[in-house]
Order: sequence, then structure tokens, then C-alpha cells
Amino acid sequence: MLIVQKYGGTSVADLEKIRKVAQRVARYKDQGHDLVVVVSAMAGETDRLLSLAYEITPEPAPRELDMLVATGEQVTSALLSITLQAQGYPAEALLGYQIPIYTDELFTRARIQEIPTERLRKGLSQGKIIVVAGFQGITPEGDITTLGRGGSDTTAVALAAALRADLCEIFTDVEGVYTADPRIVSQACKIPRLSYEEMLELASAGAKVLDIRAVELAMVYKVPVHVRSTFSEAPGTIITEEDEEMEKVLVSGVTYNRNEARISLYGVPDQPGVAAKIFGPIAERGILVDMIIQTGRPDGKADLTFTVPRTTLREALKLVEEVAQKIGAERVESSEAISKVSIVGAGMRTHAGVASKMFETLARHGVNIMMISTSEIKVSCVIDEKYTELAVRALHEAFGLDQPPQEEK
Ligand code: ADP
Ligand code: ASP
Ligand code: MG
Repeated sequence: MLIVQKYGGTSVADLEKIRKVAQRVARYKDQGHDLVVVVSAMAGETDRLLSLAYEITPEPAPRELDMLVATGEQVTSALLSITLQAQGYPAEALLGYQIPIYTDELFTRARIQEIPTERLRKGLSQGKIIVVAGFQGITPEGDITTLGRGGSDTTAVALAAALRADLCEIFTDVEGVYTADPRIVSQACKIPRLSYEEMLELASAGAKVLDIRAVELAMVYKVPVHVRSTFSEAPGTIITEEDEEMEKVLVSGVTYNRNEARISLYGVPDQPGVAAKIFGPIAERGILVDMIIQTGRPDGKADLTFTVPRTTLREALKLVEEVAQKIGAERVESSEAISKVSIVGAGMRTHAGVASKMFETLARHGVNIMMISTSEIKVSCVIDEKYTELAVRALHEAFGLDQPPQEEK
């Protein structure tokens, strides 16, 4: 089989852990598999590098930021390759530009456009284990880009898709995808199987165990993904196409996202074309707007509130303030002290009353809901950030997800 594996930051946090990873990779090689191994930077390294840049200035240039943070993965890919070679295995480390992984020019959140596979295939055909620096790419002009935080998952799935690999294994510090973040809900259970669609909703609702774009790519190219632990042999979570069993589950997970911020525009002229003027420039910068609420007012104007990733708040706010002035809006406000809690499950499609149960549960715990959005299989509520953990635990319990499963009946 051709397998693409990805090892996250905690899995390659020091030389001892890298040695363990090399041993696991070697075992697969001994079984006769072809391997492409994607690595993240050592745990904490990306944050450390970013904080150096922000120590110099609050607004470092995105191009240079990418050049800086891409070094984290350069280090681990070289170290893993050296470790494999030291253990007697032929290995070759490749950086994004050497493959090359072509992306657009949206520095710090670039999107992959094309991955020629010649160089990878050549190495594989020579029996080498290919070790790839995750998270990074190159523009056609030759500038280094990165794919956004958590982007090594996307590198792995994109390579699996480009190479038509049989499997993409995501090795991380938990045993799989859980019904809620195990760091917050000690009662969370491992989910054995999930559909691409459910995983997409879980990821977009904040379950950062897998990057959203990785799931999108896996869904489009039908790449089977196995999320599992670097530190155990236990089977993890298989992400694949939906089957009948999956539909029976009403709510498969509860998630939270603290990485959003709210922008509100008050007194916007209620005319055709205004929304386009506001959201056009934001979209052009590649900033993802999540929830949008518009409310009419008796004076014929409207108030508009929406959320963006917290890391892009400064940039989005600047754009919105410019537009607000042009269109004559009354004022612009923003807040970072929000979080979004969501429930996700394929069974919601065919069952009523899930959303109302969520609202009831939050109300019972005195949590006020600021914004609501729904999709076919997800309900999300924006709440005050300080109630995040309380809300997640309450919902996890209310929807019967707490373990241990009641065996005696
Ligand atoms: P890596 O460095 O391996 O990419 P991440 O930190 O990005 O690891 O992702 C793994 C983390 O995701 C876990 O440690 C866990 O705290 C968090 N997480 C959030 N939601 C979930 C969930 N529903 N299931 C499993 N892990 C989750
Ligand atoms: N090192 C990058 C980050 O910390 C990419 C990744 O780990 O997936 O976001
Ligand atoms: Mg990650």
C-alpha cells in the first residue's frame, strides 16, 4: 500500500519522540508499504517563532512571517530523515518548494493549487521513505507560504490525494476524534467512525484535532483518513463516506471554538448592494466570515453582526471601518470575548427538536445565546467566552454522550 502519515507537533517534540516516530515508520516500511511522512514543527515551535516576530512589531509582514514559521517544519523533517537514515532506512526529506507544493499568494493562509508528483514518485520508486515538511508551500513566483495554523494535516491529505494513496493516517496526541475535546470533557468517548460531512462540521465548529481544509480535501478526493495516537497502538477514528449506522446517531459530538471574534456595524443603510460592499473586501483578503446576522430597525436602517477568525480581526476591522465610512454606517464595534459552541450529528437531518434541546440546556445553565446558526447537521451558538467549558460539558451530558456507557439495564 501507499500510505501518507502525518505526525503532529507533540509527536515530534524532541529527539526521543522523533526516534519513536522513526521506529513506527520503519515498521510500516518493513511490512512492505510505500511511505510519505509529513511532519509538523516541534510542539510550541510555531508559537515561539511567531512571538519573536510580534515582539518586534504588532504587524509583521505576512510574507516574512511565513518565511519564519516554515523553518519549524524544516527542522523536524530533516531530523526525522536523519534518524531514519541512522536506523539504516533510505529516507529523503523534502521541503514544500522542492516537491513543489504550489499555493496561491495569500501568505499565512495560502491554499494549495497544484502538487506535481514526479519528484515524490521518483523517490518512492527508489525505495525511499519520503519525509515532507508540512504546513508549507511555494508560490509560482518562488515565495514561501504557509497554509494556516494546523496546516500540516492539509499537507498530508493533499499529498494523499495527489498520489492517490490508499490511506492517510493522522498521528496525534489523542486516540482519535472524541465526542468532545477530551481536555475539557473527561467523559468524552472515542468515535470509531465518522462521515466526511460530520467531520467537516466538527472541524469547522472547532474540533481542531483535524484541520478543516484537510477534511474538505479528503471528502472531495475520497481519501480514507485514520486519526490515531502516536503513543499507542489503539485503533482511532476512521473518516469515510457515510453509511446507514452513522445516520442513526443523533448528536455525535460537541465542539467549541474560541478563535472567533465578533464585528458589529450599526445603522447600515438598508439598500441593495450594501452587504456586497462590506463582505467583498473581506473575502478578497481570504478572511473567512462565519456567522452573519442582519436585523432591520424601525428607522429603516439595519444592524449587522458577523464573526471572523480572531487572528484576522485586526485586518477585518480595518477593512470594515473603511467601508463603514464610505456607506455612512453609524458605528463599528468588535469583541473578542466570545466563543461558539456547536452540536454535530448526521441524525439531525431526520430528527426534530435537537436545536430546541440545545437552547433549553444552555438556558438551564444560565448561558445567554448571542447568535445562532444551523446547517443540516449542526447547530451553533455564540456565547460569552467565559461559559465555554460549562456549556460544552452541559451539552455533552444533555445529549447522552458521557461515558461510561450504562451497561446494566
Ligand atoms: P497535532 O499537533 O497532532 O496536530 P492538535 O493539537 O492540532 O495536534 O490536535 C489534537 C488536539 O485536538 C487534542 O489534544 C485535543 O485536545 C484537541 N481536540 C479538540 N476537539 C477534539 C475532539 N473532538 N476529539 C479529539 N481531540 C480534540
Ligand atoms: N506547525 C504548524 C502549527 O503549529 C502547523 C501544524 O502543526 O499543523 O500550526
Ligand atoms: Mg493539528
